[in-house]
Amino acid sequence: MTTGKRSEIRPGVPAPGMAGRMGASIDARRGVEYRELRAASLVNRFNGRPMPFGWTVNPYRGCEMACRYCYARYTHEFLGQNDPEAFERCVWVKKTNRVALVAELRRARKSGRLVALGTATDPYQPAEARFEVTRRLLEAARDVPGVRLSITTKGTLVARDAELLAEIARGSELSVNFSITTADPALARRLEPRAPRPDLRFGAMAALVGAGIETRLFVMPVLPLITDGEDNLRALLGAARAAGASTAESNVLFLRAGTRETFFAFLAAEFPQLVPEYERLYAGSAYAARRCVAEIEARVSRLSNEAGFPARRLCDRPDDGRRGRQLSLVW
Ligand code: SF4
Repeated sequence: MTTGKRSEIRPGVPAPGMAGRMGASIDARRGVEYRELRAASLVNRFNGRPMPFGWTVNPYRGCEMACRYCYARYTHEFLGQNDPEAFERCVWVKKTNRVALVAELRRARKSGRLVALGTATDPYQPAEARFEVTRRLLEAARDVPGVRLSITTKGTLVARDAELLAEIARGSELSVNFSITTADPALARRLEPRAPRPDLRFGAMAALVGAGIETRLFVMPVLPLITDGEDNLRALLGAARAAGASTAESNVLFLRAGTRETFFAFLAAEFPQLVPEYERLYAGSAYAARRCVAEIEARVSRLSNEAGFPARRLCDRPDDGRRGRQLSLVW
């Protein structure tokens, strides 16, 4: 995903090894510039802290959906782009090579560990309609039956690939996780300015379920005091259940450096009354205060049961073959 530690990065200077991969501008539209990135590989082994996957795929660097809480904003610093808006205004499109993709997916299959598509940036962001990097990855995956795949997205463009996904699902484990944080379209527009409306995401979910593909609701992140209310959570869980999602999972907002600054600027502009409470909740930590997290988790769990989702335990989560370890999903 990245090539080094954030502390080793100098502002405005690409990380070692990155400069030689950064290609020319290949398009510009809607105020977004697209540039080519020659990635060493598209399917990357993940050796970090325990996560429910062993491999990650992010076809694009940057994402024009521009969610105010986006976890991945810091990744542009490795390209020497430190302006917080560069993440959503300059999207890097990874070059693909079909032979290499198939070889990488075979390696992943051999490991038995889950390949997670969209761990940092959205694989069905608007750029995908033009460049189809995600589509090429999936076409390669179709030729590697037995590979274990999960896709996480807010993009309704995923419905374009319903037929291809159904083909993959016939020979491989596959799930599509829809990230939906609020059922309120007006609030969604403020939080996720250029992501599809929530009802359209539920529509895409239903379309995939109709094609025989397992889908999940990811209420990630839950924003304390903004999207953590009973009414919102109940609406999300009910809509996901109606659309045919098999499970629902949630994670409370994680505010790492690089995201914290953008999110607090958003709060100051849109929810100024919440700034002191967020400063208290996230005092000196990227994680919300434990009590807040516990309360939200209990609420989601109770409402999930009410909505008819099966009870979930950590050991039930899709994982990388190392069941029983402490797992957490980060968006
Ligand atoms: S859709 Fe995902 S990757 Fe894109 S801005 Fe939103 S949170 Fe970030």
